[in-house]
Amino acid sequence: MDERAQWIGERLREVRERITRACDAAGRAPHEVTLIAITKTHPVADVERLLDLGVSDIGENRDQEARPKIEAARATGRLLRAHFVGQLQTNKAASVAQYADVVHSVDRARLVAALDRGALAAGRRLGVLVEVGLADGTPTGAQPSAAERGGVAIADVLQLAALVADSAALDLRGVMGIAPLDGDPLAAFTRLADIAAQVRARYPAATWISAGMSGDLEAAIACGATHVRVGTAILGSREPLR
Ligand SMILES: *Cc1c(COP(=O)(O)O)cnc(C)c1O
Repeated sequence: MDERAQWIGERLREVRERITRACDAAGRAPHEVTLIAITKTHPVADVERLLDLGVSDIGENRDQEARPKIEAARATGRLLRAHFVGQLQTNKAASVAQYADVVHSVDRARLVAALDRGALAAGRRLGVLVEVGLADGTPTGAQPSAAERGGVAIADVLQLAALVADSAALDLRGVMGIAPLDGDPLAAFTRLADIAAQVRARYPAATWISAGMSGDLEAAIACGATHVRVGTAILGSREPLR
């Protein structure tokens, strides 16, 4: 194991301990929470180190970076589940449908249609989470950061979930949310848990709640997160994007 792998291994242990403590505090079992390592801006060598350290769920947020990295890691014979977590342009959907196992950031009908076409063309099934906008009830124009982070309005979640459920090649797995930068993560994740329960009541297989990142995974786990998406706390700070 090289030095970088040892360093990542230590961060990974710390994050796993945080998850275990948060589960203890919430009366949940740690195996109920899946850790997805977000590897954006980090090299494929880090993806391989993570897989060798026992992390099999890898997340990326940009198609042009994700595709070659996921394909290179798989070409070494390593098995991984690929999660696409970033804002997704409709014209990139067919590409993402070729390598992703789950897309967390589905927030509009046209994207549902494009992913369904792409998955059909690739002869694959694709897991889908409906991304829920968690900004407070303020007008969207007042919160550009939240608007950038995307997500469908809570009032429209069930309608979008129905479109996914009625698709030919998409499997509705649940919901995803990102807490607003300037708000209370517990309040935001409580809203997410509420709409997640409504989705699950209608579609019992849609059990996932993807919520929580390096800074707020405890709040997310307290609110029922089944999948946490952690980058910085495992891999260190990212190179700034151009
Ligand atoms: C980058 C990213 C994460 C991980 O964020 P960290 O703060 O580095 O843990 C989680 N979710 C999404 C959608 C991201 O883009």
